[in-house]
Amino acid sequence: MAEFLEDISDCPKCNLCKSRSRVVLGAGNEHAEIIFVGEAPGVQEDKQGIPFVGPAGQFLDQLLKSIELDRADVYITNTVKCRPPDNRDPEADEIAACNPYLKKQLRMIEPRIICTLGNYATKTILKTSSGISQLHGKLIRQGELAYVPLFHPAAALHKPPLRNVLIEDFERLQQHLDAEKVRWKTILDEPPESLSALEPEGQAEQMGLF
Ligand code: SF4
Repeated sequence: MAEFLEDISDCPKCNLCKSRSRVVLGAGNEHAEIIFVGEAPGVQEDKQGIPFVGPAGQFLDQLLKSIELDRADVYITNTVKCRPPDNRDPEADEIAACNPYLKKQLRMIEPRIICTLGNYATKTILKTSSGISQLHGKLIRQGELAYVPLFHPAAALHKPPLRNVLIEDFERLQQHLDAEKVRWKTILDEPPESLSALEPEGQAEQMGLF
């Protein structure tokens, strides 16, 4: 992943390259079973080059701890790797330009569960018109990949009732992960011809990202 970051550190593929301080590729365990995908780096992330380092990141750390995980166990990234000016939402062309990088990360990590953080990442990645209020905490399977949409930790900082919703959804996430581990063990125990779903190209086509 360090080599990958070096390769794209001067990426000029969209307008966000003009205002960023640095590309924020992601951080954490490159063999993680869970990957969290937020929207975009914010001001602190842009300064430090690490995703989720502000108050929302601290709450995410608490949520991970509540299910006996920490950042070393998971991988955290965003739909776009450069900070949008004034923290605006990323534009469609910026997401399209950056999507190959997210796809590559998913192929490198091969997580069991992809958690989309917030409405924006959920709608973008799952290509759904359903909002996070309807989908949060549920396991959604597309092909061989499993997604669990969650409220963005920053939302809970502004709306305190969402704190408990997130805590409960993390408990569900732990249960989903246990179930996915059993499912993958079953898949991997099957004869090799049944493993075509694991091939990168097949996986990319099923991801529903594009
Ligand atoms: S957001 Fe992605 S595509 Fe756009 S400049 Fe940054 S790394 Fe490149």
